[in-house]
Amino acid sequence: MDGEEVPDLIPARMLNEFTYCPRLCYIEWVQGEFEDNADTVDGRFQHRRVDQSRGVVPDSEEIKEFNARSVDISAPETGIICRLDLVGGNGKSVTPVEYKRGSVPDVEGGAYESDKVQLCAQGLALKENGYECSEGMIYFVKSKRKVSVPFDDYLINRTKELLDSLREMAASGKIPPPLIDSPKCIRCSISGICLPDEINSLRESEKADEGTLQVRKFLPARDDQVPLYVSGYGQLLRKKGERIEIWSKKEKLGDAKIRELSQVSLYGGVSATTPVFTELLQRNIPISYFSYGGWFYGFSQGNSHKNVELRIKQFSVAGDNEKSLKLAQKFVNGKILNCRTILRRNDQGVSTDVLSSLKKLANDAESSENFRTLLGIEGGAAQIYFSRFNSLLKSQDEWFLFNNRNRRPPKDPVNAVLSYLYGVMVKEFFVTLLATGFDPYLGFYHQPRYGRPALALDLMEEFRPIIADSVTFTLFNNGELSESDFICRGLGVTMTPEGKKTVLNGYERRINTEVKHPLFGYKVSYRRIFEVQARLIARVLDGEIDEYPPFLTR
Ligand code: SF4
Repeated sequence: MDGEEVPDLIPARMLNEFTYCPRLCYIEWVQGEFEDNADTVDGRFQHRRVDQSRGVVPDSEEIKEFNARSVDISAPETGIICRLDLVGGNGKSVTPVEYKRGSVPDVEGGAYESDKVQLCAQGLALKENGYECSEGMIYFVKSKRKVSVPFDDYLINRTKELLDSLREMAASGKIPPPLIDSPKCIRCSISGICLPDEINSLRESEKADEGTLQVRKFLPARDDQVPLYVSGYGQLLRKKGERIEIWSKKEKLGDAKIRELSQVSLYGGVSATTPVFTELLQRNIPISYFSYGGWFYGFSQGNSHKNVELRIKQFSVAGDNEKSLKLAQKFVNGKILNCRTILRRNDQGVSTDVLSSLKKLANDAESSENFRTLLGIEGGAAQIYFSRFNSLLKSQDEWFLFNNRNRRPPKDPVNAVLSYLYGVMVKEFFVTLLATGFDPYLGFYHQPRYGRPALALDLMEEFRPIIADSVTFTLFNNGELSESDFICRGLGVTMTPEGKKTVLNGYERRINTEVKHPLFGYKVSYRRIFEVQARLIARVLDGEIDEYPPFLTR
């Protein structure tokens, strides 16, 4: 937002958030990001009664007793707009009541400053509309107690001062820094978006070469949601109440609770009824479409992400060669180092020469002068890495031998699985980037080309070896995939539906594995790490951190 674009009326709820933490207000209001946690869901539930509009507020000249719920009021001079949970009085003299889900806090006056200024803003709005209003009440649902908040000069001035600061912050277009080691972050619903400790520790390490801050683990609400893959030809998805059912002709194959879904992937000839699409789009659950062979060719999504500011920055950096190269170097550096780790861990016969060459190429990537050199370095590293790929496979059965990386069509089972998994990963990163507010089609390393999700391909570089490649050789080595899972067709090899199911299961197992984040020290699933890494790119674009730190496995 620049000065002229800040709306004239600021929601009182945002004033509350700004007082609690300016960054929280910026992320929610300016950037349009929000995520529920247990507290916010419970808060909505506790609030449900007052959220139902009931009763009318009489004109300020009319003298009569009244109580009205969920009343909207605006005050152009004060620059505030609010929804009053409850307002009561005798016409001229009124008292707003704000409902809070918790207990009366053990602080001076029995209420937090953020709640008091929100209430005072409501009082100012009522006064501007001609009512007398000298105090408000906060009703704490858990304690079943009301606390009175007098609108004295100090609170009124403080409320106005905070309103001005909020306006200034929104106009600056700069995200406020995260709080440092604050207990507020523990209960904050958007800590998984804000990444307070992660950003503070990266900023500290940029300054002092080594981070010293303890990084707390904030769990995102999304972690309890799961993707749904449907891959059988002719299958149909139907909605039944709160569930989605999967049918094949007259037989029901299974079902899933809609509220537990994070995304839905449809492969080949799978279709869905209109109520299924409507429900998924309304709940902002993305639907991805794949060809029968696993090629990702599109998606449907509800209303797109509101974080326009991030997309503007993305477009600006993508058009800046130097800044894009800096990011691209990190993606390639991360990819080569992770390839090296895969060989070091799993290839018994790998020579120190190979490992040193990969290390050198990873360093060269970081200092490459242009995109052409960087591409050459990446290609050289891929050649070395894939020349050792066969040693990662235990079976020496000729059918499963890997000679070189090939695709379109893949010529052997190993390549068929790799290609399939790369397709699944593109979709995963595509959805992650959409959810974090990016345009997945505009990358910094991969150049824009019609229909190519360039940023998804950028971000997935560092994860290819540790996810797709690792799942591939694990499935073959464990004997989970066998000859019967593949079909030889002309020059290419594809997988049977059973084979694909096995691969998808292996993939899900892998990305739900909890691993220790090497920089932040906490254990989270790969799926959550994908999101954290996407948000770190956003923080580089914001200028909060100088360099993108790729995820490096040890
Ligand atoms: S996590 Fe902490 S710093 Fe980040 S928005 Fe919430 S309260 Fe503010």
